[in-house]
Amino acid sequence: MPLDFGFSDEQSSLRSYVQGIANEIRPGLREWDAKEEMPWQAIEKMGQAGLLGLIGLKNLGGRQLDYISLGVAIEELAKVDTSCAMICSMQNTLTTLTPGWDDDDIRDVYQGKKLVCIATSEEEAGSDVTNLKTNARVEGDEYVINGEKIHVSLMPGASVMGVTVQVTEGNQPPRIEFVKVPAAASGVTCELMPEMGMRSHQLGRVRFNEVRINRDSLLGGEKGKREGKAVLYARWNVSRCLSALNALGTAIGVLDQTIEFVKKKQVYGKSIAHYQSIQFPLVEHYTRVEACRLLAYKGLWMNVRGENAAREATMAKWYGVTLAVDAIKDCLQMFGAAGYLIDRDVERRFRDAVGLMFTGGTVNIMKLIVVRELLGKQFMGIERA
Ligand SMILES: Cc1cc2nc3c(=O)[nH]c(=O)nc-3n(C[C@H](O)[C@H](O)[C@H](O)COP(=O)(O)OP(=O)(O)OC[C@H]3O[C@@H](n4cnc5c(N)ncnc54)[C@H](O)[C@@H]3O)c2cc1C
Repeated sequence: MPLDFGFSDEQSSLRSYVQGIANEIRPGLREWDAKEEMPWQAIEKMGQAGLLGLIGLKNLGGRQLDYISLGVAIEELAKVDTSCAMICSMQNTLTTLTPGWDDDDIRDVYQGKKLVCIATSEEEAGSDVTNLKTNARVEGDEYVINGEKIHVSLMPGASVMGVTVQVTEGNQPPRIEFVKVPAAASGVTCELMPEMGMRSHQLGRVRFNEVRINRDSLLGGEKGKREGKAVLYARWNVSRCLSALNALGTAIGVLDQTIEFVKKKQVYGKSIAHYQSIQFPLVEHYTRVEACRLLAYKGLWMNVRGENAAREATMAKWYGVTLAVDAIKDCLQMFGAAGYLIDRDVERRFRDAVGLMFTGGTVNIMKLIVVRELLGKQFMGIERA
């Protein structure tokens, strides 16, 4: 009987443990959203609870658990807050997916004292991720960086950024590398880009003006091997499954809250939970959530086994995010005008879920990757005009 849908005892107790931490975070959420403020209290709490280094190396303060355990933590955090789940997901994946961060920085991240982030997107390099204008010219032992990144999660706030740059060096053809840039480096400036949802995770525009970075500051693989592009694409399948679980956890949080509400809410002398027009959408959304949740965990399980989960991860990401937004929109309607008001939190959760449609690649780009997996790369149609 090889098919097994169960979680280990350790994963189940982690689930209860994270539920406890998520409840401790809950009281600050509305204020952080309203003020568009980085939730440092929650970050410290997650760090102290060991959630930011769940898959990190033990000698750096991590817990060295598997991707499925991380998925469990993201799902449970997301039931309460999408931004905190995203912060947890990013710190776990970035610190382990791009070797080259300083060990001390990683230790600080795992304790919730510091954050790292990744800056790849530009005006013309969102989906078209390699179409970079940010340039690094080589001068002796240094890169001199000029350019602008947009939509950078956790900026302002993160201490160190992984930045994709187009390197020009003598007569060599330009190449993409991934460099580590301290947010406090001379020539770096950042401004907040106010966003619709996930407002406490913050989104920044970062400008680089003659920023000098030692050539040792290369992220990814063995230092000096110039594997920037490969690192950029590396193991995105894990973070896409986590984005799906973030969206699904967000939807489950709202759906559960909606069940409580419709049972209590009396209209025409009885609870609205008696109406099939309330019941059936709930049944349909729970069904879709559960199906996609299994797909996301399957993707993580395949990653644990070292299998290529590109198909499962991208399917889970586009479907999970889309169905989460649909589910929360329907829940909002079931609350009546109360759902539209700020004090129920449903509107915040709706705005938060929308943000997941873009982060780590849009719904369309996820579908294009599924096209590649199903039909072949030649049918993706993404050659630059
Ligand atoms: C909440 C949030 C967090 C983010 N965090 C980060 C971060 O930490 N670091 C970072 O660097 N970036 C980050 N981003 C940026 C994100 O990676 C980009 O928004 C995303 O890659 C899409 O790029 P774009 O917004 O420029 O859209 P574009 O690439 O300009 O696309 C515009 C539209 O065209 C569609 N489209 C594009 N090409 C095709 C095609 N070939 N076929 C069909 N449709 C297509 C897209 O799906 C989209 O709907 C974040 C964004 C958000 C909203």
